[in-house]
Amino acid sequence: MNAPIYLDYAATTPVDPRVAEVMARHLTLDGIFANPASRSHMPGWQAEQVVEGARRQVADLIGADPREIVWTSGATEADNLALIGFMRANRARGMHLVTSTIEHKAIIDTARALEAEGFEVTWLEPGHDGRIAPARLAAAMRDDTVLVSLMAVNNELGSINDLAALSAVVHARDAVFHVDAAQAVGRIPLDVVELGIDLMSLSGHKVYGPKGVGALYVKRSPDIRLEALIHGGGHERGMRSGTLPTHQIAGMGEAFVLAESEGEADQTRIAALAERFLAGLDDLEGVHRNTDVTVAVPNIVNLSFDGVDGESLLMALRGIAVSTGSACNSASVEPSYVLQGIGVPRSRALTALRFSFGRFTTEAEIDAAIADIRHAITTLRG
Ligand SMILES: *Cc1c(COP(=O)(O)O)cnc(C)c1O
Repeated sequence: MNAPIYLDYAATTPVDPRVAEVMARHLTLDGIFANPASRSHMPGWQAEQVVEGARRQVADLIGADPREIVWTSGATEADNLALIGFMRANRARGMHLVTSTIEHKAIIDTARALEAEGFEVTWLEPGHDGRIAPARLAAAMRDDTVLVSLMAVNNELGSINDLAALSAVVHARDAVFHVDAAQAVGRIPLDVVELGIDLMSLSGHKVYGPKGVGALYVKRSPDIRLEALIHGGGHERGMRSGTLPTHQIAGMGEAFVLAESEGEADQTRIAALAERFLAGLDDLEGVHRNTDVTVAVPNIVNLSFDGVDGESLLMALRGIAVSTGSACNSASVEPSYVLQGIGVPRSRALTALRFSFGRFTTEAEIDAAIADIRHAITTLRG
């Protein structure tokens, strides 16, 4: 059997071969593999230089200073450090956090853990377009609100929040703004200064870098202090201890360079592919788009299909690797909380599939996917 066509780039991307090549140079004895914290020898200094070069590459993409980048194991850890680290360090200023009901589980479960710790959380509801209205955020802000956490691009819908408008609301109330940008890098412009972002979570593997590495952007400001979650050795200015993975970090740096040079062209090409995909399904009855295309990235297309059962559809589509809602809850049959959160009826949410395209998606793959879907739908509907 042929390998399935991979249309699940929002769950993870393959590593770009150019990134893999850079990573391979930082693993073996003939490469720059040493511990970047080893100060007593040349290999250590070289590794440190590699790490610092990558720090600059990541910082450059988001308009930050390299000193504002803290390496983590991924966006999940960055989200935990931002929320828990900031709330614990700022107890004296206030105990209130604002976030939304359609955030990634890395935010939702972390905010729940903070509730259990005694912090108070307001859960904003999005509009039908999957975005948080700035007016709704303004109404939720209190005198004891210290942190607001909202995502840049939703991982199931592709909807893009108006970060500049939201940050204005946050700062008008002297709170701090955290953004989970795991799905946004290489998809939309992300300048932390222009957008007024104080903390921002990044991931390597959503943008053709390796899994297991990410970063938290922490604005240099006396107002922004974090309590470390991981202790030992005092790496990353005490905010995150642990030996830095030279190869992972070098790979993430290269991935961010490529996102900077190729992200826009990728998105233009992908937008045309998404249009081709939708045009190919256009005459099928009962296909619903769950995203408001006018405010979403083109690389994520979330569709529901009337008259078929979601699980049967997924089975019939074994030739295509796609996601039901989100990879993180594909083990459970509960419909996506994100789709329910934007008001998609339960029955329709149960038949939703997320198709996500990327740098290596071809027209031929799109055409094959269209043919597969058409065949599956007509067969299942009988
Ligand atoms: C994938 C993802 C995460 C988790 O990132 P990891 O690097 O896999 O930990 C967090 N938030 C969003 C929006 C994501 O898409």
